[in-house]
Amino acid sequence: MSFTLHGISVSSGIAIGHAHLVSHTSLEVAHYILPKRFVDEEVARFDAALRATRQEFSSLRSNRPTHAAAEFDAFLELHQMILEDPLLSTAPREMIANEHCNAEWALKVQTETLVAQFDEFEDAYLRERQTDVKQVAERLLKRLAGHPGHQPPQARHDVETILVAHDLSPADLIQFKPQQYAAFVTDSGSATSHTAIVARGLNTPCVVGLHNARELVREDDLLILDGEQGVLIVNPDKSILAEYKLRQSAWELERKKLKRLRTARANTLDGSLVELHANIEKPEDIAEVKENGATGIGLFRSEFLFLNRDELPDEEEQFEAYRAVAAGMDGQPVTIRTFDLGADKQLKNAGRVANNPALGLRAIRLCLAEPMLFRTQLRALLRAAQHGNVKILIPMLSSVSELNQTLLFIEATKYSLDIDGIPYNREVKIGGMIEIPAAALALNVFAKKLDFLSIGTNDLIQYTLAIDRTDEEVAHLYDPLHPAILQLLSHVIGTANKLGVPVSVCGEMAGELAYTRLLLGLGLRQFSMFSAQVPSIKQRVLTTSLPEIAALTQKILRADDPLRVRELLDRLNA
Ligand code: PEP
Ligand code: MG
Repeated sequence: MSFTLHGISVSSGIAIGHAHLVSHTSLEVAHYILPKRFVDEEVARFDAALRATRQEFSSLRSNRPTHAAAEFDAFLELHQMILEDPLLSTAPREMIANEHCNAEWALKVQTETLVAQFDEFEDAYLRERQTDVKQVAERLLKRLAGHPGHQPPQARHDVETILVAHDLSPADLIQFKPQQYAAFVTDSGSATSHTAIVARGLNTPCVVGLHNARELVREDDLLILDGEQGVLIVNPDKSILAEYKLRQSAWELERKKLKRLRTARANTLDGSLVELHANIEKPEDIAEVKENGATGIGLFRSEFLFLNRDELPDEEEQFEAYRAVAAGMDGQPVTIRTFDLGADKQLKNAGRVANNPALGLRAIRLCLAEPMLFRTQLRALLRAAQHGNVKILIPMLSSVSELNQTLLFIEATKYSLDIDGIPYNREVKIGGMIEIPAAALALNVFAKKLDFLSIGTNDLIQYTLAIDRTDEEVAHLYDPLHPAILQLLSHVIGTANKLGVPVSVCGEMAGELAYTRLLLGLGLRQFSMFSAQVPSIKQRVLTTSLPEIAALTQKILRADDPLRVRELLDRLNA
């Protein structure tokens, strides 16, 4: 029987292959009471499983696959931390000793307590980490069952195989890669899960959040996975299969063609040059930036250097990271954002988390509230700017006094380097992120004091529409085409262009094909996005004529009916 399931698209592409089911992640275990004389042995069995799991993590870490995404280390560290949580590492042994129950049962009970604690978090990201807790517990359970480590299931070699699981940990995904699965499908997961992040990095089609695919799909069923639309078609009929085979060939041909554009300049049909830059989180990401032909780094989210660690990076470590990127980009622009910590990116020992962290001590507010931290970073940045085309970007500006204070602070930091006789680039350009409506509306004053601007649409939309960007319950209200957003974008890009201040967009909108022409029509000439998206956006630029899209863009700006906006956008993209 043929049927279709809908989920959340995480990584695009079309895959056709046979289902390979992996076992259900389940904490269903038996409960039995042991005779007293076996209790010590049971505790020892639990300890052995714990040791083996620890070793498994260490060896995963030291044998980190070369294709692993930068986030791989971070998630492994998270899983190691979860394993060391007293509820998983010590409470079960106490329970076995006191209640004489079997180790699996003790582990299940304590895992459920830990999961319940995660469930209490208000922050959606933290709440979602209960999946990580279950994944760690599952590893321990497998060890208890005498499983020789967490071996990835073997893909068949005679046919394309699509892996169907209730849930996959990022480690599983990383291990599957060399076996060349055609695609991954999971029942659980969301666009912000670590698994989703790793899947995107692997460039393998992936759809998550299908709810009951693992139950409905049978081993060896023929599947079509449309990673673009987030659709899984099970046992398709001949005509659907034929259609998707055509679409798949077209997609593959397109990818090949796009690869050839790597060194081409992104000129519109009428000859305007558009800069396509990449967003990175770690110095290692620059290999992918080059592979995809980005002509600079438009956003280095430096805060990722500060996350998942006990000791914050000192000036030398930061200097080395920024220098490596600057030198590695061979003179191409490298825009490094000062740490945007707070909100959903908290330091490990951050202490109290505000009631509304996205509106609290975040980004530049935190930088100014922690002058020693900020000074250390600025010194490293100013020094690194001698080794390439580095620019400094200030996140989340909302008031001019804040900007003035920041600029003074930068001058004072330069002075501290002068006093120490340490060489640095005193001409480094300072830019500001426009991601709070107040800054967008009062753009003139910011533009006059800054060398360049970068629009953070992710936050601009969050703050303009009052939608928490991490809250899946309101995700459907997150609308880049809301007239208020379009007006703000038009105002910021138009004003910056009029004042001759370079402006780019570095939020997700810059990497979405649907918005490329619209942004070009609004006057944008600099985009910064997830590296893998650069070739597709380049192709869209190459097939766009600016004079031809001008009138339609203005119509979209004037339209107030959402359906009409979408209809006009479709025409613009046709
Ligand atoms: C943005 O807000 O659009 C942006 C690029 O910054 P971040 O996503 O890191 O908040
Ligand atoms: Mg932002």
